[in-house]
Amino acid sequence: MTATASVSDCTVTNCSFNDHSHCGAAGITIGGGEDHASCATFIDTGTHGGLPKVLATVGACQRSECVHNNDLMCGAPEVHVGPGADNADCLTYKHGGGETGGQAAGMAGGGNSELAGAHVPEETGGLAGGPVGEPTD
Ligand code: SF4
Repeated sequence: MTATASVSDCTVTNCSFNDHSHCGAAGITIGGGEDHASCATFIDTGTHGGLPKVLATVGACQRSECVHNNDLMCGAPEVHVGPGADNADCLTYKHGGGETGGQAAGMAGGGNSELAGAHVPEETGGLAGGPVGEPTD
């Protein structure tokens, strides 16, 4: 049912699995926290490891709140890995929820206040200025 996302490139040059911006691990695991998704497979041993001609895939991803996450697997077409908050982060990570809601609320609020501002002065001015002002004097 679930597909594995390929690691299209990785710019973490000090990782032992890195070979000219490509990942030589057969599969990587993504961990980290809600503020960033880090590559848990990253390791700097000082020697080069991994397989010579492998396009790595995301074998498992613990960032279940990511919009691409599906049953702890990655559903993105491909992912980019590189330095972020940590040495090696999944740069394709996108926190689900909140972001689009905030934008929608901002747009709706701006539209409403513009309409309200146009109507209120006309209506209150007409009612208050005529009948209320004359009988008092
Ligand atoms: S894009 Fe999202 S689901 Fe895919 S590996 Fe990165 S953090 Fe995990």
